[in-house]
Amino acid sequence: MKNPKIIPLILFTCLFSKGIIAQCPIIPAPSSYLKFKDRFDFQNLIQTNFSLIPANIKAYFTTEMSVLFNLELKQMENIKPTISFLKVESAIHKDWYEIDVKTDHILISFSSDASCFYAINSFLQLIEKKGTETYIQNCKITDYPKFEWRGLHLDVSRHFFSVEEVKKYIDLMAFYKFNTFHWHLTDDQGWRIEIKKYPKLTETGAWRDSTVNNHYTTIPRTYSSEIYGGFYTQEQIREVVKYAESKYINIVPEIEMPGHARAALAAYPEFSCTGIQQNVPGLWGVFDDIYCSKKETIDFNIDILSEVLELFPSKYIHIGGDEAPKDRWKKCINCQRIILENNLKGEHELQSYFIKKIDKYLTSKGRKLIGWDEILEGGLSPNATVMSWRGTQGGIEAVKQGHAVVMSPGSHCYFDHYQSKNSGDAIAFGGFTSLEKVYSFEPIPAELSLQESKLILGAQANLWTEYIPNMKQLEYMTFPRALALSQVLWSVKKPSYKVFQDRLIKKHLFLLKQKDVNYSKAIFYPKMTISKTKNGIRYNFKSDLKDYQFIENNANQYGSNSKIEYLEEIKVNLDRQRIPNGETAALIVPFYLGLEIKPIYINYKLHELLGLPIKFITEPNERYSYNKELCLLDGIIGVTPWNSGEWLGFDTTEIIFEVNLLKEVEIKNVYLSFLDDASSWIHLPEKIIISTSINKKKWDVFPFTVEKNKNTYQINKNAKYIKYKILTKKSIPQNFPGEGKTPWTFMDEIMVNFE
Ligand SMILES: [Zn+2]
Repeated sequence: MKNPKIIPLILFTCLFSKGIIAQCPIIPAPSSYLKFKDRFDFQNLIQTNFSLIPANIKAYFTTEMSVLFNLELKQMENIKPTISFLKVESAIHKDWYEIDVKTDHILISFSSDASCFYAINSFLQLIEKKGTETYIQNCKITDYPKFEWRGLHLDVSRHFFSVEEVKKYIDLMAFYKFNTFHWHLTDDQGWRIEIKKYPKLTETGAWRDSTVNNHYTTIPRTYSSEIYGGFYTQEQIREVVKYAESKYINIVPEIEMPGHARAALAAYPEFSCTGIQQNVPGLWGVFDDIYCSKKETIDFNIDILSEVLELFPSKYIHIGGDEAPKDRWKKCINCQRIILENNLKGEHELQSYFIKKIDKYLTSKGRKLIGWDEILEGGLSPNATVMSWRGTQGGIEAVKQGHAVVMSPGSHCYFDHYQSKNSGDAIAFGGFTSLEKVYSFEPIPAELSLQESKLILGAQANLWTEYIPNMKQLEYMTFPRALALSQVLWSVKKPSYKVFQDRLIKKHLFLLKQKDVNYSKAIFYPKMTISKTKNGIRYNFKSDLKDYQFIENNANQYGSNSKIEYLEEIKVNLDRQRIPNGETAALIVPFYLGLEIKPIYINYKLHELLGLPIKFITEPNERYSYNKELCLLDGIIGVTPWNSGEWLGFDTTEIIFEVNLLKEVEIKNVYLSFLDDASSWIHLPEKIIISTSINKKKWDVFPFTVEKNKNTYQINKNAKYIKYKILTKKSIPQNFPGEGKTPWTFMDEIMVNFE
């Protein structure tokens, strides 16, 4: 391959415009906000009647006022408070609150301790600081939450996060009114919770001797050989639970079964089907070795849960239930005997049998079982709640069966996906979930009736940490996307995305910075669009944030000098007539963020098919059709892991499309590339049949078998038209995730005469 040619483009414009309409600065936006003339000015010492609010809220309020605004709160006898609290016994919602800001007095009314805490967080976000003046615009806010489950998840198995880091995560959740922290404590790559009865779970299961480098689909794989791990003692867990409670956050612990159990089985191999001793893996993915379904294993899990219940007061206990391959069960005498004795229809019902035993135990202890949507397979346990991650379909099905559901679809709620198209971003799991996409999420599917929709408890975002090795990266992946989700979950009617974006940029990015959060700046990246031109294509980069005038307003507010200048527009034309075929080039689009130049890297290839007419006989699936007229002919190569937009996704077993070359061209070879990601049900096709013609009457046909890592197929024919026919496997093979279903085929750029 030739060296990439670097084309630096330097063009930025600084634009100022005046007058964004003043909006309520709070995220998530309250149900109602009325703005009045004049303002309340803070004095250095503020009289408050604290006696009505719980001690933890008093401590929080006092600390935050001091840290964020250098203001001191005091309660003194016989002096009329300037901020007073009032508990209201009967309100329209159990977590209702109201803030009434007048020039000489602020009244905060609330109906529950939690809502008092929510009111304080709203109050903190209302405060403006300019120079030496600190004030709140007079207003009246009435507010209460829409959903009862407003969650963020954290996987501490793939990478471990310390107690202090978990507490910071909880702090940030609380500030944005999340109330559920799903703590993913066990998985293949590490067991993170001390269990007194089984000390080897942490002595052995908490440590792995290697970790895979790069994306795990990158072949050949290499490993770092450092010992990696860690765990929380029961004392530390109690401390975190108590800490979260003080911020009105419930912790839902997750103990994975029967799959994702390799760390536990490394400690206690007798609970597997084979009994073979294996290590704690340093590779990501799904493993065949899962818990055996024999009685001893179920008892082992119940013993573990009995200690977990002592530590976590949560009504919901998450037991995983996802991604459990059935290979071992099929060959295990014990598992097959249980199937026979209990008259079960195969291994899916055996999984259901396993989960039902656990459900029975949890129910007997007054708790509720929640699991990933695979627990639907083989029959849902009577008291189970479903967390729908493979789209929303599992959730819909569970609701139709009368079960409660938490929505967490990969499409909108997986924050381990990319949030920008900048190839300079750190590696992520795959998929593309922009801030705007998260914001567009609707937890209640349109298919559900009003009555049924009451079973949707809410939603949560998941932070799987295969590619999140530390707190900085966790913050980067979580923020500001978590703010978009907090808005989705809180308000009955959410403001437009533009309004949200405005609040975020004018206020919250500064707050996040003040809280030392390494948030993503993808929101400032210019948007890239691709269009056809007469002789090729055009890349267009444009910022849609040019109307923001907050630089001087807010720069002083928190003592920062940050300055953001916006790139207005960059156009790059690629002409297929005048190109060195197959040359790889990199486009660097620079723009200022703060005082740094943050380049965005776009890698592309020049080739003879750029922007030519393409006709799809088989349509791509609408979820992955993007800009289909150009996607395969835009010069942008789909990257692995599959970042957004550059891969067309098909869910049919035959794919046909045709390219018109507009003139007769000598075709030496054709180039096609397919994604191979079995964990996402995406497989290579089996055959491709290329047909070429100069007149669309007589066709020459060239069949090929698809091979891994082979992209170029010899033709040596003159042609004006090329027809592509791609044949996939009829169904996903046994022992792969999604077995028996139609495989997905993901394609990216097609080229010709490319070596
Ligand atoms: Zn077994």
